[in-house]
Amino acid sequence: MIERRRRTVVVGGGVAGCVLASRLSRVDDVVLIEAGSRVDAASVPVDVHAALATPGLTWPGVKARRVAGGPLVAYPVARGVGGGSLVNGLVVDRSSGPLVVEEVGANEFGSVDRALVTGLGARAVRLSRRSGMRAAASNVDLEAVDLRLGATVDGLVVGGGRVIGVEIAGGEGDTVVEADRVVLAAGAFASPRILLAAGLGGPAVGRGVQDHPSVVLPLDGPGQFDGPVSGAVARFDGIEVLALNRLPDGQCGVAVALLDPASRGRVTIEEIDLNLLDENTDDLARLTAGVSVAIGRLSDALAAEGLAFADEIPKSGDISSLRDWVRSQVATADPVYTHAASSCSRDVVDEGHAVGGVEGLFVVDASTLPGVPTGSMMNAILDQVDVVSGRWMSS
Ligand SMILES: Cc1cc2nc3c(=O)[nH]c(=O)nc-3n(C[C@H](O)[C@H](O)[C@H](O)COP(=O)(O)OP(=O)(O)OC[C@H]3O[C@@H](n4cnc5c(N)ncnc54)[C@H](O)[C@@H]3O)c2cc1C
Repeated sequence: MIERRRRTVVVGGGVAGCVLASRLSRVDDVVLIEAGSRVDAASVPVDVHAALATPGLTWPGVKARRVAGGPLVAYPVARGVGGGSLVNGLVVDRSSGPLVVEEVGANEFGSVDRALVTGLGARAVRLSRRSGMRAAASNVDLEAVDLRLGATVDGLVVGGGRVIGVEIAGGEGDTVVEADRVVLAAGAFASPRILLAAGLGGPAVGRGVQDHPSVVLPLDGPGQFDGPVSGAVARFDGIEVLALNRLPDGQCGVAVALLDPASRGRVTIEEIDLNLLDENTDDLARLTAGVSVAIGRLSDALAAEGLAFADEIPKSGDISSLRDWVRSQVATADPVYTHAASSCSRDVVDEGHAVGGVEGLFVVDASTLPGVPTGSMMNAILDQVDVVSGRWMSS
């Protein structure tokens, strides 16, 4: 008798979904359902600003409240096979699966990069590029995967204590796709929302979401530059300082981010509350201290490049004014570090990524990271995929 292969439905063809679907297709019948389309990653600009402006590669109208009581601010969320790796900054720690490493050469450095090297001992950024072109998670072998594009999962089908399929809107084919196993890989906002809509996963779903609180220090001076947006990065005391040789408005700047925040927020069906600077933590004080150090150590090095911190930024010694400015920037400015994670981690999935209280349902993506990582998001997500796919392929 010929045994039927297990049918695994993966929801979301982003960084986790692409790689997971490709691996599992060696042992299972895999259906990958992706709301967006499929484009050649190499045709999408490496420049994060240009990539984000490419039509069809982001979900329109997503907004998040960045600090408690603050306004809703646009938050870029990727759409399409490859997910975030199609539009993001491509910064990686190391190669992993389809992500390869090309270090930015000193010959590619812009003036902000050079100032970071002189003032903060910055090192060259590693990008997932191949011959200078974007190398994304979609560069995996999806030949054996049943890829459903333009199809949005809007419900889970449950029967006899198991998840037995998903409901889809749009795309070609059935509106219900049956499954022996459903894996949510729809990202830090969509995965918890699918669970919440289905009433699965328990009260912790959506709670605990984290992101890096960050600010951009705008610079006055010549901002036009053809090389990588970010060529150099420095770290100290849980702070990352990243060169921004080019901003969407043509100016340049320096990004400062807190890598290991304690603040956590909440994703609900109605709203995304990132709560990036919880008053019960010292996240604001630590980020402000990092900004102060960056200003103090970079001013001379920037001046040597014909650049200066913009007048709107309080002086580094005036910590109280600087703290108010940092809080208002985190609350209102367009985010640069958009690394949402951990919205389905604590008490939602077990070590094997299974959702409690129901059989056959799993989550593997940024939402299942224990917290926002201090290194590359994509590396951290693909490390999870390695472990989970290894286990599943041998079982
Ligand atoms: C502007 C920006 C810059 C970044 N820079 C970096 C960087 O330099 N380095 C780094 O490591 N990380 C970076 N990141 C973060 C990184 O891209 C994300 O953490 C990563 O893409 C998350 O992977 P994921 O698999 O969880 O979800 P995603 O890659 O976001 O994929 C989720 C997929 O699910 C699909 N989807 C969602 N809902 C549904 C549904 N209901 N039905 C069907 N499909 C659905 C989406 O269309 C999407 O394709 C950046 C992110 C952004 C936005």
